[in-house]
Amino acid sequence: MIVITILGTPEAEIVKLIKQIESMGLTVHRSMGHRYCVLGIVGDTSIIDKDSLEASSIVKRVMHVQEPFKRANRLFHPENSQINVSDEIIGGKKLAIMAGPCSVESEDQICSIAEAVKESGARFLRGGAYKPRTSPYSFQGMKEEGLELLKTARAKTGLPIVTEIMSPQLIEKFVEDVDIIQVGARNMQNYDLLRELGRIRKPILLKRGLSATIEELLMSAEYILAGGNQDVILCERGIRTFETYTRNTLDISSIPAIKRLSHLPVIVDPSHAAGMWWMVEPLALAAVAAGADGLIVEVHNDPENAKCDGYQSIKPARFDELINKIRPVAKVVGRDI
Ligand code: PEP
Ligand code: MN
Repeated sequence: MIVITILGTPEAEIVKLIKQIESMGLTVHRSMGHRYCVLGIVGDTSIIDKDSLEASSIVKRVMHVQEPFKRANRLFHPENSQINVSDEIIGGKKLAIMAGPCSVESEDQICSIAEAVKESGARFLRGGAYKPRTSPYSFQGMKEEGLELLKTARAKTGLPIVTEIMSPQLIEKFVEDVDIIQVGARNMQNYDLLRELGRIRKPILLKRGLSATIEELLMSAEYILAGGNQDVILCERGIRTFETYTRNTLDISSIPAIKRLSHLPVIVDPSHAAGMWWMVEPLALAAVAAGADGLIVEVHNDPENAKCDGYQSIKPARFDELINKIRPVAKVVGRDI
Protein backbone atom coordinates (compact mmCIF):
# COMPACT_ATOMS: atom_id res chain seq x y z
CA MET A 1 0.00 0.00 0.00
CA ILE A 2 1.18 3.52 -0.81
CA VAL A 3 0.16 6.60 1.15
CA ILE A 4 0.80 10.09 -0.21
CA THR A 5 0.56 12.94 2.28
CA ILE A 6 -0.85 16.38 1.52
CA LEU A 7 1.63 18.98 0.34
CA GLY A 8 3.23 20.88 3.21
CA THR A 9 2.26 18.42 5.96
CA PRO A 10 4.45 19.18 9.02
CA GLU A 11 7.16 16.65 9.75
CA ALA A 12 5.74 15.88 13.21
CA GLU A 13 2.41 14.86 11.67
CA ILE A 14 4.13 12.55 9.19
CA VAL A 15 6.14 10.90 11.97
CA LYS A 16 2.94 10.45 14.00
CA LEU A 17 1.25 8.76 11.05
CA ILE A 18 4.25 6.47 10.48
CA LYS A 19 4.26 5.46 14.17
CA GLN A 20 0.54 4.76 14.04
CA ILE A 21 0.97 2.45 11.02
CA GLU A 22 4.03 0.77 12.54
CA SER A 23 2.11 0.10 15.74
CA MET A 24 -0.06 -2.23 13.65
CA GLY A 25 2.98 -4.42 12.98
CA LEU A 26 3.62 -3.04 9.48
CA THR A 27 6.86 -1.64 8.03
CA VAL A 28 6.88 1.85 6.55
CA HIS A 29 9.41 2.96 3.94
CA ARG A 30 9.45 6.67 3.43
CA SER A 31 10.37 8.52 0.27
CA MET A 32 10.59 12.30 -0.04
CA GLY A 33 9.87 13.47 -3.56
CA HIS A 34 10.25 17.04 -4.79
CA ARG A 35 6.69 17.84 -3.73
CA TYR A 36 5.22 14.94 -1.82
CA CYS A 37 6.07 12.55 0.97
CA VAL A 38 5.31 8.98 -0.09
CA LEU A 39 4.98 6.16 2.43
CA GLY A 40 5.34 2.59 1.21
CA ILE A 41 3.65 0.19 3.62
CA VAL A 42 4.88 -3.37 3.61
CA GLY A 43 3.21 -6.29 5.38
CA ASP A 44 -0.35 -7.49 5.64
CA THR A 45 -2.04 -4.21 4.68
CA SER A 46 -5.48 -5.82 4.72
CA ILE A 47 -5.68 -4.76 8.40
CA ILE A 48 -5.67 -1.09 7.33
CA ASP A 49 -9.00 0.56 6.66
CA LYS A 50 -8.26 2.45 3.44
CA ASP A 51 -11.27 4.78 3.78
CA SER A 52 -10.49 5.98 7.27
CA LEU A 53 -6.83 6.48 6.38
CA GLU A 54 -7.88 8.52 3.37
CA ALA A 55 -10.17 10.57 5.60
CA SER A 56 -7.16 11.74 7.64
CA SER A 57 -6.51 15.46 7.21
CA ILE A 58 -2.89 14.89 6.17
CA VAL A 59 -3.48 12.13 3.61
CA LYS A 60 -3.92 13.01 -0.04
CA ARG A 61 -4.22 9.53 -1.50
CA VAL A 62 -4.05 5.85 -0.53
CA MET A 63 -3.35 3.24 -3.20
CA HIS A 64 -3.18 -0.51 -3.12
CA VAL A 65 -0.08 -1.63 -5.01
CA GLN A 66 -0.81 -4.58 -7.23
CA GLU A 67 2.82 -5.42 -7.76
CA PRO A 68 4.72 -7.31 -5.04
CA PHE A 69 7.67 -4.92 -5.28
CA LYS A 70 7.23 -1.77 -3.23
CA ARG A 71 10.47 0.15 -2.95
CA ALA A 72 11.31 -0.48 -6.60
CA ASN A 73 7.81 0.68 -7.60
CA ARG A 74 7.38 3.97 -9.40
CA LEU A 75 4.30 4.65 -7.29
CA PHE A 76 6.58 4.76 -4.27
CA HIS A 77 9.07 7.07 -5.97
CA PRO A 78 7.47 8.88 -8.91
CA GLU A 79 10.64 10.61 -10.13
CA ASN A 80 13.42 8.70 -11.88
CA SER A 81 16.13 7.65 -9.44
CA GLN A 82 19.49 9.19 -10.17
CA ILE A 83 22.56 7.41 -8.92
CA ASN A 84 25.76 9.26 -8.26
CA VAL A 85 28.96 7.32 -8.90
CA SER A 86 32.07 9.43 -8.36
CA ASP A 87 30.08 12.47 -9.58
CA GLU A 88 28.85 10.72 -12.71
CA ILE A 89 25.05 10.54 -12.65
CA ILE A 90 23.28 7.39 -13.84
CA GLY A 91 19.62 7.87 -14.71
CA GLY A 92 19.91 11.54 -15.70
CA LYS A 93 20.01 13.15 -19.14
CA LYS A 94 23.48 11.84 -19.91
CA LEU A 95 23.72 8.20 -20.98
CA ALA A 96 25.86 6.01 -18.75
CA ILE A 97 28.29 4.39 -21.15
CA MET A 98 30.27 1.52 -19.63
CA ALA A 99 32.85 -0.32 -21.69
CA GLY A 100 35.75 -2.69 -21.32
CA PRO A 101 36.75 -6.30 -21.72
CA CYS A 102 34.80 -9.28 -20.47
CA SER A 103 37.79 -10.17 -18.29
CA VAL A 104 40.86 -8.37 -17.09
CA GLU A 105 43.82 -10.21 -18.62
CA SER A 106 46.90 -8.04 -18.04
CA GLU A 107 47.90 -4.51 -17.05
CA ASP A 108 48.65 -3.60 -20.61
CA GLN A 109 45.33 -4.95 -21.86
CA ILE A 110 43.06 -3.26 -19.29
CA CYS A 111 44.92 0.06 -19.32
CA SER A 112 45.06 0.37 -23.09
CA ILE A 113 41.37 -0.51 -23.45
CA ALA A 114 40.47 1.90 -20.63
CA GLU A 115 42.32 4.74 -22.32
CA ALA A 116 40.76 4.00 -25.70
CA VAL A 117 37.16 3.74 -24.49
CA LYS A 118 37.55 6.87 -22.37
CA GLU A 119 38.79 8.76 -25.42
CA SER A 120 35.67 7.65 -27.31
CA GLY A 121 33.28 8.79 -24.59
CA ALA A 122 32.87 5.92 -22.11
CA ARG A 123 32.31 7.12 -18.55
CA PHE A 124 32.87 3.81 -16.74
CA LEU A 125 35.31 0.93 -17.17
CA ARG A 126 33.97 -2.61 -17.01
CA GLY A 127 36.12 -5.70 -16.58
CA GLY A 128 35.63 -9.04 -14.87
CA ALA A 129 38.10 -10.17 -12.23
CA TYR A 130 35.97 -13.01 -10.81
CA LYS A 131 34.27 -14.74 -13.73
CA PRO A 132 31.16 -16.92 -13.54
CA ARG A 133 31.96 -19.52 -16.20
CA THR A 134 29.70 -22.33 -17.33
CA SER A 135 32.64 -24.74 -17.26
CA PRO A 136 34.87 -25.09 -14.19
CA TYR A 137 37.75 -25.77 -16.63
CA SER A 138 37.43 -22.38 -18.37
CA PHE A 139 39.41 -19.28 -17.35
CA GLN A 140 37.95 -18.14 -14.02
CA GLY A 141 39.37 -14.62 -14.01
CA MET A 142 42.48 -13.05 -12.48
CA LYS A 143 40.60 -12.58 -9.22
CA GLU A 144 42.39 -10.36 -6.68
CA GLU A 145 45.15 -9.52 -9.14
CA GLY A 146 42.47 -8.51 -11.66
CA LEU A 147 40.94 -6.12 -9.12
CA GLU A 148 44.34 -4.53 -8.57
CA LEU A 149 44.75 -4.04 -12.32
CA LEU A 150 41.30 -2.43 -12.54
CA LYS A 151 42.40 -0.02 -9.83
CA THR A 152 45.54 0.75 -11.81
CA ALA A 153 43.44 1.49 -14.90
CA ARG A 154 41.14 3.71 -12.82
CA ALA A 155 44.13 5.61 -11.44
CA LYS A 156 45.42 6.19 -14.98
CA THR A 157 42.14 7.22 -16.59
CA GLY A 158 39.90 8.41 -13.76
CA LEU A 159 37.15 6.06 -15.00
CA PRO A 160 35.08 4.51 -12.18
CA ILE A 161 35.20 0.71 -12.30
CA VAL A 162 32.39 -1.81 -12.50
CA THR A 163 33.10 -5.46 -11.85
CA GLU A 164 31.22 -8.58 -10.89
CA ILE A 165 30.95 -10.05 -7.41
CA MET A 166 30.06 -13.71 -6.96
CA SER A 167 30.37 -14.34 -3.26
CA PRO A 168 29.22 -12.48 -0.13
CA GLN A 169 32.69 -13.11 1.37
CA LEU A 170 34.15 -10.57 -1.05
CA ILE A 171 31.77 -7.72 -0.23
CA GLU A 172 34.14 -5.90 2.12
CA LYS A 173 36.91 -5.94 -0.46
CA PHE A 174 34.59 -4.79 -3.24
CA VAL A 175 33.21 -1.94 -1.12
CA GLU A 176 36.77 -0.77 -0.66
CA ASP A 177 38.01 -1.21 -4.22
CA VAL A 178 35.12 -0.95 -6.67
CA ASP A 179 32.81 1.90 -7.74
CA ILE A 180 29.86 -0.17 -8.99
CA ILE A 181 29.37 -3.78 -7.91
CA GLN A 182 27.91 -5.95 -10.65
CA VAL A 183 25.63 -8.87 -9.84
CA GLY A 184 25.70 -11.15 -12.85
CA ALA A 185 22.73 -12.82 -14.51
CA ARG A 186 23.58 -16.13 -12.83
CA ASN A 187 23.40 -14.56 -9.39
CA MET A 188 20.28 -12.45 -9.87
CA GLN A 189 18.39 -14.76 -7.57
CA ASN A 190 21.19 -15.40 -5.08
CA TYR A 191 19.13 -13.92 -2.28
CA ASP A 192 21.81 -14.24 0.42
CA LEU A 193 24.14 -12.18 -1.76
CA LEU A 194 21.41 -9.62 -2.55
CA ARG A 195 20.49 -9.26 1.12
CA GLU A 196 24.12 -8.59 2.03
CA LEU A 197 24.42 -6.04 -0.78
CA GLY A 198 21.41 -4.27 0.72
CA ARG A 199 23.42 -3.57 3.85
CA ILE A 200 26.20 -1.65 2.11
CA ARG A 201 26.23 1.80 0.56
CA LYS A 202 27.66 1.18 -2.88
CA PRO A 203 25.85 1.22 -6.25
CA ILE A 204 24.81 -2.20 -7.52
CA LEU A 205 24.42 -3.11 -11.19
CA LEU A 206 21.87 -5.90 -11.15
CA LYS A 207 21.74 -7.95 -14.35
CA ARG A 208 18.58 -9.73 -15.39
CA GLY A 209 18.72 -13.49 -14.90
CA LEU A 210 18.92 -15.78 -17.91
CA SER A 211 15.27 -16.75 -17.62
CA ALA A 212 13.98 -14.14 -15.22
CA THR A 213 10.77 -12.20 -15.75
CA ILE A 214 10.73 -8.44 -15.34
CA GLU A 215 8.87 -8.89 -12.07
CA GLU A 216 11.50 -11.32 -10.79
CA LEU A 217 14.21 -8.79 -11.67
CA LEU A 218 12.37 -6.08 -9.76
CA MET A 219 11.85 -8.42 -6.79
CA SER A 220 15.61 -9.04 -6.72
CA ALA A 221 16.16 -5.28 -6.73
CA GLU A 222 13.67 -5.11 -3.86
CA TYR A 223 15.97 -7.33 -1.73
CA ILE A 224 18.75 -4.75 -2.07
CA LEU A 225 16.47 -1.74 -1.62
CA ALA A 226 14.73 -3.26 1.41
CA GLY A 227 18.11 -3.51 3.14
CA GLY A 228 18.54 0.24 2.76
CA ASN A 229 20.81 0.43 -0.27
CA GLN A 230 18.92 2.69 -2.68
CA ASP A 231 21.50 2.67 -5.46
CA VAL A 232 20.37 -0.08 -7.79
CA ILE A 233 20.90 0.04 -11.55
CA LEU A 234 19.05 -2.61 -13.55
CA CYS A 235 20.55 -4.24 -16.63
CA GLU A 236 18.76 -5.95 -19.49
CA ARG A 237 21.25 -8.38 -21.04
CA GLY A 238 19.04 -10.67 -23.07
CA ILE A 239 17.01 -13.65 -21.98
CA ARG A 240 16.69 -17.30 -22.98
CA THR A 241 14.07 -17.92 -25.62
CA PHE A 242 13.44 -20.66 -28.17
CA GLU A 243 15.64 -18.73 -30.63
CA THR A 244 19.16 -20.12 -30.81
CA TYR A 245 20.62 -17.91 -33.55
CA THR A 246 21.68 -15.32 -31.00
CA ARG A 247 23.25 -16.12 -27.62
CA ASN A 248 20.20 -14.58 -25.95
CA THR A 249 17.22 -12.54 -27.11
CA LEU A 250 17.45 -8.86 -26.24
CA ASP A 251 14.14 -7.96 -24.64
CA ILE A 252 13.78 -4.40 -25.91
CA SER A 253 10.28 -4.19 -24.50
CA SER A 254 11.67 -4.64 -21.00
CA ILE A 255 13.09 -1.10 -21.20
CA PRO A 256 9.76 0.78 -21.47
CA ALA A 257 8.15 -1.82 -19.19
CA ILE A 258 10.71 -1.29 -16.42
CA LYS A 259 10.54 2.48 -16.89
CA ARG A 260 6.80 2.34 -16.37
CA LEU A 261 6.91 0.02 -13.38
CA SER A 262 9.97 1.35 -11.62
CA HIS A 263 11.98 4.51 -10.93
CA LEU A 264 15.30 2.65 -11.14
CA PRO A 265 17.66 3.33 -14.04
CA VAL A 266 17.97 0.61 -16.65
CA ILE A 267 20.98 0.03 -18.86
CA VAL A 268 21.41 -2.48 -21.68
CA ASP A 269 24.17 -4.96 -22.42
CA PRO A 270 24.01 -5.62 -26.17
CA SER A 271 27.15 -7.81 -26.07
CA HIS A 272 25.80 -10.65 -23.95
CA ALA A 273 22.40 -10.33 -25.61
CA ALA A 274 23.79 -10.85 -29.10
CA GLY A 275 26.81 -13.03 -28.50
CA MET A 276 28.16 -11.67 -31.82
CA TRP A 277 30.26 -8.55 -32.28
CA TRP A 278 28.52 -7.44 -35.47
CA MET A 279 25.13 -7.28 -33.79
CA VAL A 280 26.28 -5.07 -30.92
CA GLU A 281 25.79 -1.82 -32.84
CA PRO A 282 22.17 -2.26 -34.00
CA LEU A 283 21.12 -3.56 -30.59
CA ALA A 284 22.86 -0.68 -28.81
CA LEU A 285 21.14 1.87 -31.08
CA ALA A 286 17.78 0.20 -30.51
CA ALA A 287 18.31 0.21 -26.75
CA VAL A 288 19.05 3.94 -26.66
CA ALA A 289 16.08 4.65 -28.92
CA ALA A 290 13.85 2.63 -26.59
CA GLY A 291 14.84 4.74 -23.58
CA ALA A 292 17.74 2.92 -21.93
CA ASP A 293 19.72 5.01 -19.44
CA GLY A 294 23.00 3.62 -20.66
CA LEU A 295 24.93 0.74 -22.17
CA ILE A 296 27.52 -1.74 -20.99
CA VAL A 297 29.59 -2.94 -23.94
CA GLU A 298 32.39 -5.49 -24.19
CA VAL A 299 35.43 -3.98 -25.88
CA HIS A 300 38.68 -5.89 -26.44
CA ASN A 301 41.90 -4.89 -28.20
CA ASP A 302 42.46 -8.44 -29.49
CA PRO A 303 39.08 -10.22 -29.54
CA GLU A 304 40.43 -13.23 -31.47
CA ASN A 305 42.65 -14.07 -28.51
CA ALA A 306 40.41 -12.91 -25.68
CA LYS A 307 40.23 -15.27 -22.71
CA CYS A 308 36.47 -14.84 -22.52
CA ASP A 309 33.64 -13.67 -24.81
CA GLY A 310 35.93 -12.65 -27.68
CA TYR A 311 33.34 -13.26 -30.38
CA GLN A 312 30.94 -10.73 -28.90
CA SER A 313 33.62 -8.12 -28.19
CA ILE A 314 34.20 -5.13 -30.44
CA LYS A 315 37.55 -3.45 -30.99
CA PRO A 316 38.20 0.07 -29.67
CA ALA A 317 37.93 1.61 -33.17
CA ARG A 318 34.51 0.07 -33.68
CA PHE A 319 33.47 1.25 -30.22
CA ASP A 320 34.43 4.75 -31.28
CA GLU A 321 32.23 4.43 -34.36
CA LEU A 322 29.42 3.07 -32.23
CA ILE A 323 29.52 6.07 -29.89
CA ASN A 324 29.41 8.42 -32.87
CA LYS A 325 26.37 6.61 -34.22
CA ILE A 326 24.68 6.73 -30.82
CA ARG A 327 25.07 10.52 -30.47
CA PRO A 328 22.28 11.51 -32.94
CA VAL A 329 19.96 8.74 -31.69
CA ALA A 330 20.49 9.92 -28.11
CA LYS A 331 19.64 13.47 -29.18
CA VAL A 332 16.35 12.38 -30.76
CA VAL A 333 15.23 10.82 -27.47
CA GLY A 334 16.39 13.81 -25.43
CA ARG A 335 19.63 12.32 -24.12
CA ASP A 336 23.33 13.18 -24.34
CA ILE A 337 26.49 11.16 -24.20
C1 PEP B 1 29.62 -10.27 -17.94
O1 PEP B 1 29.19 -9.12 -17.78
O2 PEP B 1 30.75 -10.54 -18.39
C2 PEP B 1 28.70 -11.39 -17.67
C3 PEP B 1 29.15 -12.59 -17.30
O3 PEP B 1 27.42 -11.06 -17.88
P1 PEP B 1 26.05 -11.86 -17.56
O4 PEP B 1 26.02 -12.04 -16.08
O5 PEP B 1 25.00 -10.94 -18.08
O6 PEP B 1 26.10 -13.16 -18.31
MN1 MN C 1 31.31 -11.43 -20.82
